[in-house]
Amino acid sequence: MQRVFNFNAGPAMLPTEVLERAKEEMLDWKGTGMSIMELSHRGHHFVELAEQSEKDLRELMNIPEDYYVLFLSGGATTQFAMVPLNLMGERLAADYIETGTWSKKAIAEAKRYGDVNIAAKTQYENEKAYVVAPEEWQLRSDAAYLHYTPNETIDGLEFQYIPDVAVPLVADMTSMILSRPIDVTKFGIIYAGAQKNIGQAGLNVVIIRKDLVREPLPLTPTLYSYQVQAESKCLYNTPPTYAWYIASLMFDWLKDQGGVEAIYKMNQRKAAKLYQVIDDYSHFYVNKVRKDFRSMMNVMFYLQQEALTSNFLNEAQQEGLVNLRGHRVSGGVRASIYNPMPEQAIDLLAKFMVDFAKRHG
Ligand SMILES: *Cc1c(COP(=O)(O)O)cnc(C)c1O
Repeated sequence: MQRVFNFNAGPAMLPTEVLERAKEEMLDWKGTGMSIMELSHRGHHFVELAEQSEKDLRELMNIPEDYYVLFLSGGATTQFAMVPLNLMGERLAADYIETGTWSKKAIAEAKRYGDVNIAAKTQYENEKAYVVAPEEWQLRSDAAYLHYTPNETIDGLEFQYIPDVAVPLVADMTSMILSRPIDVTKFGIIYAGAQKNIGQAGLNVVIIRKDLVREPLPLTPTLYSYQVQAESKCLYNTPPTYAWYIASLMFDWLKDQGGVEAIYKMNQRKAAKLYQVIDDYSHFYVNKVRKDFRSMMNVMFYLQQEALTSNFLNEAQQEGLVNLRGHRVSGGVRASIYNPMPEQAIDLLAKFMVDFAKRHG
């Protein structure tokens, strides 16, 4: 058996240790004689797992008591609807920052429920993408909240600061949650689909300040109400138990790595190594994001000679570096390097990039 280094943006690679443990525990979970998939979600075994995973995430992210932590079924896309349904209230108006594909989708969904103002959009300076400073955002005074995407996964554009705004701040952290320390108290809602940094698809995690949990818009489906989910401890219906279990293993693994502070140091080194090659070989590679918005998790670049891209991808694959193709809307090359991607894989990729540029440059 040979495992490759999978640079896919999501579903993304998982640590071998997590997969090994899931395999070991598959047939008989904690002496129950069954797999976790077959256990009742209301039995004490599963409830203990649910409580422990919440505790672990609270510890990893330093989440205060006045926030709920919800484990819900569906992807991050579920939140594109849940956020406006629950937060628009009587104002029926919200501000959004548009920085790429995912924020556009969030905006399109919110427009079904209220009046959406785009307070700022990606701009370009010498063909490099960036966003103007928050002082220049066109915020509306009656907005119920401000939504933004701290890391745009497809475009590789990441905010290096948390905007300070008067209304509750809502963030889609799907591709950067747990990659760096975050001051949770700056946010009204943080949400993330699990298949990038938390584990398996089908689950999404929501961290919501308790005072924002209230009656949603009248037509809201029962399952899309934060109130219902919080009051039932996410057991209103059957949650995605296996995905929740994988998330709990990921939290254990991250604690073993030394937590978010420690992994952040490694993540910074990993990204810096790849951007260094891109900058050193700028006649050959180009990144189209201004330096202060470069993503730590999704390193996006193009080959100056575009025709060499498929060659690059094929040769990389032969080295065991797979799924480096950029998203279909952006093209180019993208290395998604979430927490589980080992630094050794980054060294291999950096070396491959240098060799390739020397051979073809
Ligand atoms: C992947 C991704 C999504 C979509 O997540 P699903 O779980 O597929 O719904 C949303 N937002 C961001 C930032 C993403 O990276």
